[in-house]
Amino acid sequence: CGIVGCILKNDDDVAPILFDCISKLEYRGYDSIGLATYSEDKIHIKKDKGKIKEVDNKLNLSDMPGNYGIAHVRWATHGDPSKLNSHPHVDERRDVAVVHNGIIENYLEIKEKLISEGHVFKSDTDTEVIPHLIEKFTNEGFDLEHAVRKTVDIIHGTYAIAAISINEPDKIVATRKDSPLIVGIGGEGYYLASDSPAILKYARDIIYPEQGEIVILDKNGVVVHDEFDNPVSKEIETINWTP
Ligand code: GLU
Repeated sequence: CGIVGCILKNDDDVAPILFDCISKLEYRGYDSIGLATYSEDKIHIKKDKGKIKEVDNKLNLSDMPGNYGIAHVRWATHGDPSKLNSHPHVDERRDVAVVHNGIIENYLEIKEKLISEGHVFKSDTDTEVIPHLIEKFTNEGFDLEHAVRKTVDIIHGTYAIAAISINEPDKIVATRKDSPLIVGIGGEGYYLASDSPAILKYARDIIYPEQGEIVILDKNGVVVHDEFDNPVSKEIETINWTP
């Protein structure tokens, strides 16, 4: 029920920051928590159902390598709360990891089609079609941004999504439709979140992506493209209050 993403400008580990930010979205309600980071050609994932503290005691969520990643607190809509159904979700080869807040209404027909094309699913969630679709479009030659764009052309429903891929390191791609998503510009890095309390400790300059806009975060900053691929110059709002 909440997503976070962060890419740091330096090479520090991002997991403690992701964990801190995602914990602040606890109030949105959740049954599971998970993080994905990237380092040295690999996507690392820690996730499970349960209270944030319990899962952290078991898995030590702040101890993951890599200076960028994504995180999720889940409020199950499709598939029971379980480790397998927790986000982030991946494709078979674990090339792509995705967190999603919302509901994909047409996931069953997409899932059936992907299975007939040879994709293997591990969870009962609606979300899992997303990493498989991104994988499919990446295999067809699309870059991550355009694979996400092709994916959102197919899925119907509500979503805020953030994706990372080992084929395009040092980048987070995100988009939204009818689920909240904000972008934060901080001194140490760039942030995504479902809501501002998650990131205000790290970033007070906030951008509000519109429906269908694609947000790309890398070490050098934030780029926003509209649904026709054109760059959009976004207003930055500085938040002065403290949560
Ligand atoms: N529909 C997705 C699921 O059940 C995402 C739920 C959420 O927004 O937390 O896994």
